[in-house]
Amino acid sequence: MAPAENSSPVGNGSSEPKYPIKYTKCFIDGEFVDAISGKTFETLDPRTGEVITSVAEGDAVDIDRAVKAARQAFDEGPWPRMSGAARGKVLFKYADLIEQHTDELAYLETLDNGKPFVLSKYADIVGVLKCLRNVAGWADKISGQTYKMDGPYQGMSLYEPYGVTGAIIPWNFPMLMFMLKVGPALAAGNTIVVKPAEQTPLTALYLAALAKEAGIPSGALNVVPGFGPTAGAAVASHMDINKVGFTGSTEVGKIIMEAAAKSNLKPVTLELGGKSPLVICEDADLDAAVDIANLALFFNMGQCCTAGSRVFVQDTIYDAFVAKAVEKAKKRVVGDPFKPEVEQGPQVDETQFKKILEYIESGKAEGAQLLTGGCAAGNKGYYIEPTIFGDVQDDMKIAREEIFGPVMSLLKFKTLDEAIKRANTSSYGLAAAIVSKDIDVANRFARSVRAGTVWINCYHVYDQSLPFGGYKTSGFGREHGLHSILSHMQLKAIVTPLKDS
Ligand code: ADP
Repeated sequence: MAPAENSSPVGNGSSEPKYPIKYTKCFIDGEFVDAISGKTFETLDPRTGEVITSVAEGDAVDIDRAVKAARQAFDEGPWPRMSGAARGKVLFKYADLIEQHTDELAYLETLDNGKPFVLSKYADIVGVLKCLRNVAGWADKISGQTYKMDGPYQGMSLYEPYGVTGAIIPWNFPMLMFMLKVGPALAAGNTIVVKPAEQTPLTALYLAALAKEAGIPSGALNVVPGFGPTAGAAVASHMDINKVGFTGSTEVGKIIMEAAAKSNLKPVTLELGGKSPLVICEDADLDAAVDIANLALFFNMGQCCTAGSRVFVQDTIYDAFVAKAVEKAKKRVVGDPFKPEVEQGPQVDETQFKKILEYIESGKAEGAQLLTGGCAAGNKGYYIEPTIFGDVQDDMKIAREEIFGPVMSLLKFKTLDEAIKRANTSSYGLAAAIVSKDIDVANRFARSVRAGTVWINCYHVYDQSLPFGGYKTSGFGREHGLHSILSHMQLKAIVTPLKDS
C-alpha cells in the first residue's frame, strides 16, 4: 500500500469540492417531507466517522404514505397513460439533468460512500446515464404479438406495467443501484417507492429532486430513507406493492422473498451476494493476469457483489503470480477519496470495517498465508490495507463467505477440470472469469461454470445490452436494458372472436 499522505491515509481533503447538502427529507408525492414520527438518523463520512448530516428516518407509516401516492399516480395519474415515446422523452430529459449535475452528485456519492471521486464521476455517473438512456430508448419499443389461434379467434399478448413497484437498494453503488431499479420501472410505466441504504441516502434524494425537475409526475417516484428491518421490511411486505426489486445480501434477500410471499405474493427480483472465481491458467500473460486479478478484487474497495474473491492460480505459475500480485497491491494508493491520485478510499462504515478485519483474523487463524496488508490503514476512518492471502483452501471461511472488502484469496490448482469443479462448489453463482490464451479452454470454462456472467481475459466489464444477474444463491431475475424493462412488466393475453364477413 502506498499512502497518499506520509503518516495516515486520511488526506486533508484539500481537493474536496464543497456543495451544500440540499435534500435530507423523504420524497413523497413530489414533495420533500419529514418522517411522520419526526425521527432522523445520521449519515456519516467514512473518512472520519463524523456526521455529514441528519436524514429523515422513514418507517412503515412513511412507506405506506409513499405507496398511497404511488398508487394514486398509477391509477389516476398521467405516467402509465402516456405513450412510451412521451415517457421516454421525460426520461431522456432526466438523464440530461443528471449529466448537468455530475460534479455535485459525484461529490455527494464520495462524501457518503467513500469511493474515489474519480470513480463516482467517471464510472458511477456514466453508468447511471447509460442505464437511464438505454431504458428511455426502450420505452416506445415494447410490443406484444398477435396470433391466429386454433379456432375462430385472434389472440394478442400485451405487456403491461405491474403497477406500484418497490426497490430496496444497497450502499456500494448508491446512484447506480437507484437507477438500475428506477429507470426500468418508470420506462415500463410503473410507479415506484425506493428505500435507499441507510449508509448512503444522499444521492437518491438528490436524484429524486432532479426527477421532479425533469417532469416525472408527483407520486410516480418516491424515496423513503430509513433502516432495513423497518422501512425496508415495510416495502417487502406491503399489500399494495405489486413487485419488488432488491439488491443486497443473500441473507436479507431470503427475508424479502419470504415477506413478499407471505403478504400479497408479489414477484421479486433478487440480485444478491457472490464469491466469484477467477481462474488464471499457466498460458496467461502474467502481467495482464495480475492486472485483471487486482481490478477484479480491489475495485470499489472490494465492495462489489461480483468481486473476483477466489483467485485460482495454476500451480506452475503460482509463485511468479504471487510475487507480482503482491507488488501491485502494495503500490495501490489508499487515502482521501477526493484526492485524484487515490485508488482506494475507506470502507463504507464501521460495521463493514470491523467485519472485514474479522475475516482477516479468521484467514490467519485458519492457516492461510498473509502475503501483504492485513490491518487497518491509518488511525482515523474506515481504511483497510489491500490484503492478499496465499495458500487458501476451499473450506476456509475466507474462501466460502463474501468478505466485501479489499481481501484477495489465492488458491492453487493443477488442472482445468479441477478448477471448474472447485469454482462450482460455491453456493453463489454471480460471476466468474478465466484468463487463458486458449480459446477452447476459455469456452469450456465459460459453459461449465454456474454463474450469471463469465468474463474471458477481462473483468468488471458491463453493458446495458447484456443481462446481469445471478445463478444459485446469488439470486434471480435479470437487470440491464430490455431485460430489466421486461422484468418490470407482466404479460396479458387478450382473445377476440374472428367472424366471417
Ligand atoms: P449489507 O449487509 O451489505 O448492508 P443488506 O442486504 O443488509 O446489505 O442491505 C441492503 C439493503 O437491504 C439496505 O437498503 C438495507 O436497509 C435493506 N435491508 C436490510 N435488512 C432488511 C430487512 N430485514 N428487510 C428489508 N430490507 C432490509
